[in-house]
Amino acid sequence: MSTDTFPALVIDRVDGAQSASLRRISDADLPAGNVLVRVEASTFNYKDGLLLSGAIPLIQSFPMVPGIDLAGIVEFSDHPDWEPGDRVIANGWGLGERHWGGYAGKCRLNGDWLVACPARFSSAQAMAIGTAGYTAMLCVMALERQGVRPEDGEVLVTGASGGVGSVAISLLARRGYTVVASTGRPSEEQYLNKLGAASIVDRARFSEKGAPLQPERWTGAVDTVGSHTLANVCATLKYGGTVAATGIAQGAELPATMYPLALRGITICGIDSVYAPLACRKEAWRSLEAELDLDLLAAMTATVPLADVVELAPAILAGQIRGRVVVEIPS
Ligand code: NDP
Repeated sequence: MSTDTFPALVIDRVDGAQSASLRRISDADLPAGNVLVRVEASTFNYKDGLLLSGAIPLIQSFPMVPGIDLAGIVEFSDHPDWEPGDRVIANGWGLGERHWGGYAGKCRLNGDWLVACPARFSSAQAMAIGTAGYTAMLCVMALERQGVRPEDGEVLVTGASGGVGSVAISLLARRGYTVVASTGRPSEEQYLNKLGAASIVDRARFSEKGAPLQPERWTGAVDTVGSHTLANVCATLKYGGTVAATGIAQGAELPATMYPLALRGITICGIDSVYAPLACRKEAWRSLEAELDLDLLAAMTATVPLADVVELAPAILAGQIRGRVVVEIPS
């Protein structure tokens, strides 16, 4: 075991108050696991904002290294699927909540949680995708499983300027769907059009309590917002339509009625990325490798140093971050 030190962002809790600091740790400090990964990049998702801010008490034990995603190189493996030098990705599985995550130079974890990094992506590109992008692909896969087809009509994406929304727009447009982007940021219209949105709708249209059944418009939808927005999306789906529901940016409650389900046969598909089975993850990453436009990915991605993520937490929770954020891990 190496005695070299590497940087880690560590969250402690003292007298009920959470605080984060950058410090140097060594292999001996890391939790148990059968694979040791040298982390090359991580990323910043909405959930990372929740972990860093403590806005919802998600962290199960302290001290905790946050970072729900990582990409890097296997340094040591006692797991049959992995050997030193392999390029790997981890998304979710309780990283940053129950198990030390990606905001450190190394991570020791269960090899069952890893997927091979697709050859087409560098570690930074894999993290530009991250949980948000992989979840966007899970949403697209769910819509297609439910029979939502490009020729059937418009598909709505809510929280359009955010991470999941941005990647979902680009993936759906690439598959030939006519995508309508719901956003609270009209200034991002050009950005959303570039990703592939055919038109923009003001998110205020969905934000308040609405009638249980409204004029039918969408054949499918990806909802990252929850609350009244999801209820209004359900109320405006066409007969037999499907919404892939994954997020809570407006709120976790679902103030909806049964009418769209019982009278229009709509489907609400819940999408979870954290404990999604390995086969599903592999399919999502294979499809991302085959389909994602890397120029668009670059256009939706900013890069920040690890030291900056604590300050970014309030911004992502307030819906002020555009697209995706890669986190550089220093040596
Ligand atoms: P982002 O913050 O990047 O995007 C969320 C977007 O939602 C914002 O950019 C904004 O878009 C919109 N928004 C924010 N606040 C509100 C509000 N009060 N009312 C309506 N719209 C709002 O987050 P992510 O894309 O990373 O994640 C989106 C959601 O999906 C989060 O709730 C996250 O927890 C969830 N998620 C769930 C996963 C799962 O496994 N179930 C996995 C990944 C994400 P705009 O300005 O364009 O309106």
